Amino acid sequence: MLEQIFAPKSVAVIGASPDPTRLGHRVLKNIVDNGYSGTIYPIHPKAATVLDLPAYPAVSAVPAPPELAVIVIPPQLVLDVVEECGQCGVRGLVVITAGFKEVGGAGAELERALLEIVQRYEMRMVGPNCLGIIDTVSNLNASFAALMPGDGEIAFMSQSGAICTAILDWSKSEGIGFSRFVSLGNKADVDEVALLKAWGDDPQNKVILAYLEGISDGPGFVQVASQVTKNTPVIAIKSGTTAAGTRAISSHTGSLAGSESAYEAAFNQSGIIRARTMEQLFDFALLFAYQPLLPGPRLAIVTNAGGPGIIATDAIERAGLRMAEFSAATIEYLRANLPPTANVFNPIDVIGDARADRYRVGLQAALNDPNVDGVLVLFTPQAGSEPEETARVMAELAANQPKPVLASYMGAWSLEPALKLLNADKIPNYEFPERAVAALQAMDQHRRWRAAEPAEYASFDVDRERVRQLFAEVRASGRVELGEIEAREVMEAYGLRLPQSRLARSPEEAAEIASAIGFPVVMKISSPDILHKSDIGGVVVGVADAAAARDTYELIDYRGRKYSPNARIWGVLVQEMARKGREVLVGVSRDPQFGPLVAFGMGGIYVEVLKDVSFRLAPISRQEVAEQVRSIRSFPLLQGVRGEAPADLAAAEETVLRVSQLVTDFPEIVEMDINPLVVYNRGEGAVVLDARIILQG
Ligand code: ADP
Ligand code: MG
Repeated sequence: MLEQIFAPKSVAVIGASPDPTRLGHRVLKNIVDNGYSGTIYPIHPKAATVLDLPAYPAVSAVPAPPELAVIVIPPQLVLDVVEECGQCGVRGLVVITAGFKEVGGAGAELERALLEIVQRYEMRMVGPNCLGIIDTVSNLNASFAALMPGDGEIAFMSQSGAICTAILDWSKSEGIGFSRFVSLGNKADVDEVALLKAWGDDPQNKVILAYLEGISDGPGFVQVASQVTKNTPVIAIKSGTTAAGTRAISSHTGSLAGSESAYEAAFNQSGIIRARTMEQLFDFALLFAYQPLLPGPRLAIVTNAGGPGIIATDAIERAGLRMAEFSAATIEYLRANLPPTANVFNPIDVIGDARADRYRVGLQAALNDPNVDGVLVLFTPQAGSEPEETARVMAELAANQPKPVLASYMGAWSLEPALKLLNADKIPNYEFPERAVAALQAMDQHRRWRAAEPAEYASFDVDRERVRQLFAEVRASGRVELGEIEAREVMEAYGLRLPQSRLARSPEEAAEIASAIGFPVVMKISSPDILHKSDIGGVVVGVADAAAARDTYELIDYRGRKYSPNARIWGVLVQEMARKGREVLVGVSRDPQFGPLVAFGMGGIYVEVLKDVSFRLAPISRQEVAEQVRSIRSFPLLQGVRGEAPADLAAAEETVLRVSQLVTDFPEIVEMDINPLVVYNRGEGAVVLDARIILQG
C-alpha cells in the first residue's frame, strides 16, 4: 500500500533547481545519488537540464505522467501545481514546502485547500512541511536529509523533522538501518494511521517505530493499530501533552484523567509498546529487528562475572519475566564442559577467565534446553577475554534458531571492534543488562498481546430508550448536570443496583421519607453546585429516627447555605443506609482525541489523594476490564488481606462494562462519577451510593 509514495515507477521533483544551494536541488540529488531505479524528472521553469537530467518546465510537459511528485516550491505556488499534478494523473505527493497549518491563519486555510485538491484527484500526500520520505527497499530518498540510512527492517515515522535528522545521523554512526523513514510533517492526508495500515502487512518492516506528538484520529488509530500489532510490533514514543480542553472539570474522574491517561489506555488497548525515552525506542527496536520473537518468558543468562548476573536476574524478575530452570541434561552437559568453579545453574557463570569457547558451551547449552525461551549473554572485559571471538560465537549459534539472543557487553573503549561485529551480525547489544532486560520485557509484552484471545464485548440488556428520554428532558430544562434522582434512573436503566432514596424538600418530608425507607438512613445535600458533599458536611450517615431526620435536614440545609452561599440547593436526599463494603470508583471522562475514557480505582473520599486509578477507552472488552481492575495498586485490598474475604470482582467488572456500554450508547455524556461503588464480598454484588452525570454543554 501507498506504493505511489514508497515505490513509484517515476518521480518528478517540482522545484528541482540547478542551484546546488537550493533545497529542491538537494532533494533531486538525494534521489539521483542513492540508487533509485525509476525515471526521474526535474521540473524547473527555466533549466534545460539539472544534474545532467533533462528538465521540464511543468509536470504537464513530462511525456508520461510521473507517479510521484515531490514538491519543493514556495507555498503560494503549491495549490496550482498540485491541481496540475492531479490533472496529469500523478498518484502520490510529498510536499516538503512549509508555510501551511503550522503558521496558522492563512496557512491553515491554504492547507485545507491543498487537501481538497488532493482528495478530489484521489492522490495521497505526505506533508506539507516535512523533511520527505526515504525507502531503502526501492532506494528512494525523496528528502532533503543530509544522508541516506543503511538497509534495515525498521520502519520509522516521526512528526518532528528535527528528530528525523538527528536519528538519521545517529543511526548512521551506530550502523542501524531502516526500511522506511518518514517525516510526517503536518500530516494533512497521510497520517500515523495511514502509515500503520500501509506498513503493517509488509514483511520488509519487522518493526514499526513512531515518534508522536499528537494523534489526529484517536479511535481510528486504536482500531488500525490493534490489528497491525497482531502481526507487526509497533513501538511508540509520545511527547508533550495535548490540550485537555477548556471545559471546567466537575468530577473526580475529570480531575484524575489527563490526556496522558488516554494515551496510556490507547496504547495498552491497541497492543502498542510504549517507549519512555528515545533511547528505549531504539533499544526495543533493535531486538525486534534483529532477533526472532520471544516464544515464552523463560530466560537464561550466560555471564563471565557474578555481579552483572545478579543485576540481570533481579531485572528479569522485576520485569515479570522468569529465570529458566535448566533440564537435567543441560546441567550435566555444563558440568562436564565447564571448569568446576563455574556455576551450571541459571545464570551460567563461565568465570572471569573465560575465553570464547566457554561462552560457546554456555550459550549452546542454554539454546538447546527446551525450558529456555531466550538468552542474554553478559560480557565484562577481563584478562584473557576474547570479545570479538565471543561475538562471532554468538552470531554463529544465534543464527537460524527460534530463540532471541542478545548481548550486554559492559564497557566501550576496548570493545569497539566487538560491538561492530555484534551489530553487523544482528546481535542487539546493550551497554548495561537492565536495558537488555527492558527490551526483553517489551518483546514479552508483544508476545502476550499476540497470544491473547480476541477481545470479547459484553452487551447487556438495558433500557436505552428511558435514558434517551431522560437526557432530552434534562436538556429541555436547560441543564447539563443530572440531579441525583435522574442519575439514579440512568443507573437503574443500565442495570446497576442503588439503595432506595428520595429527595426531601423540607424537614417534615425528610422525616416521612426516612420512616418509609426504614432507619437508619443517610442524608445528603442535593445541589448541582456542590461537587464534594462531604467537604461541607453535607453527608450525614446513621440518622436514627424521625426527629433526627428533621434536625439533620435543617443542619445540612444550613451548612449548604453557609459554605456555598451561591449554590442552588435542591433539597436533601434521604437514602437507605448501605452496609459496609469496599469502596471503589467507576468514572468517565471524555478525551478530546480518544473519546470516552473509563476509570476504575479505589473510591471513597480519598480518591484525589490516592490517585489509584486505571483507565481504559470505551468500549471495553471483558479481557480489558479484568486487566484494568487488576492493575490498580490497591488491588490486593480487593482480593482480601489478613483473612478478609475477597471482594466481588465480577460485580465490579460488570459495573465497569455496563458504564462502558452506557457511555458508548450516549456520546453526550462528557463526565460521570460513581463514587463510591460499594463492592461486597464475592457473590454479594455491588451498589452505587453516589453518582453524578454531566452532559455535553
Ligand atoms: P461525596 O462524595 O459528595 O462527599 P457521597 O455520597 O459519596 O458524597 O458520600 C460520602 C461517603 O459517605 C461515601 O464515600 C460513603 O462512605 C458514605 N455513604 C454515602 N452514602 C451512603 C449510604 N447510602 N450508605 C452508607 N454509607 C454511605
Ligand atoms: Mg461520592
